Amino acid sequence: MTELASYAAKPETSHGRRYAEPTLIGRNEFQRDRDRIIHSSAFRRLEYKTQVFVNHEGDLFRTRLTHSLEVAQIGRGIARNLNLHEDLVEAIALAHDLGHTPFGHAGQDALNACMKEHGGFEHNLQSLRVVDELEQKYAEFDGLNLTFETREGILKHCSRENAKTLGDVGERFLKGESPSLEAQVANLADEIAYNNHDVDDGLRSGLITLEQLTEVSLFARYMAEVQTRYPDIAGRRLIHETIRRMINAQVTDLCQQSTANIVASNPKTVDGVRAAKPLIAFSPSMQQEQLALKRFLRKNLYQHYKVNRMSSKAARIVRDLYAAFIEDTGLLPDDFQSMAKAGQARAVADYIAGMTDRYAMLEHRRLFAVEENT
Ligand code: MG
Repeated sequence: MTELASYAAKPETSHGRRYAEPTLIGRNEFQRDRDRIIHSSAFRRLEYKTQVFVNHEGDLFRTRLTHSLEVAQIGRGIARNLNLHEDLVEAIALAHDLGHTPFGHAGQDALNACMKEHGGFEHNLQSLRVVDELEQKYAEFDGLNLTFETREGILKHCSRENAKTLGDVGERFLKGESPSLEAQVANLADEIAYNNHDVDDGLRSGLITLEQLTEVSLFARYMAEVQTRYPDIAGRRLIHETIRRMINAQVTDLCQQSTANIVASNPKTVDGVRAAKPLIAFSPSMQQEQLALKRFLRKNLYQHYKVNRMSSKAARIVRDLYAAFIEDTGLLPDDFQSMAKAGQARAVADYIAGMTDRYAMLEHRRLFAVEENT
């Protein structure tokens, strides 16, 4: 491994863990964070949580688990290229979606609406809550006791109001500072991953077509390149050869533009990074193309009537569960009943947010289907 840049985050100069722990020989603090995340139960549940397609719709669609692995892979590649700390990027990438509700954004929006009078629900904050409070497996503390740098990266955005309640990781939102470059890399690796895999899953599902995608310049350019080089190529091979070129183009552009930004801003240390505006970025032209791709996906995939039907069903399930548990917290499992004593709505939200897609559907049947056993 080449030497880390002076402005990379480093375990030796970490702002530390909330509860001090002895250092280990053989694993740095960011590796240790990553290992704790992988061994958490919230991480295992990502396998059965979805982004766009509900888990039972097909075995080949991305889940939040495979999405998180793709984010980590893309993020590590970028980090290595920019001499940033790969282990930190990986830890942030693997944890970034831990707080997601079942059924993707439809689930989150529904839960947020239910929680309107009780501080709302935001998946980013919930990811932090999972690693800070909800995982219960260590003798000496709640949560995973991760380093400040991993927690800072997990909290991608946050309102000023919420930031005031979060202590150290909330401060940057009040002071207008940036997070580490590793956090910025994980954030953009997330965008690269989901835009590209949603194209892939969208095509696989048949909800969008190759013909429609030719209106997206980024896709059209690389599809034409593949077809020129391999005139007879079709089907999955054509799709994959096009998407891999798109990912490569985005990663290359991001590394070049970010390098130029870093040179221009010239931060000497990670604190210099925090004081500067965000430096990890696409070039203006790639940014435009990326936005066009997002607009295409929103219009043709995320708002496809078949996706809308699933989203509406998902929202109904979440609302029903919330209403039933609020009406009678005696329906909650024992540990959540004790949590409900400290705050009923938040305990219900924590319980629902932790559910996988299929578990939420099962709970809904248990509570509402007369013929179902509980
Ligand atoms: Mg994500």
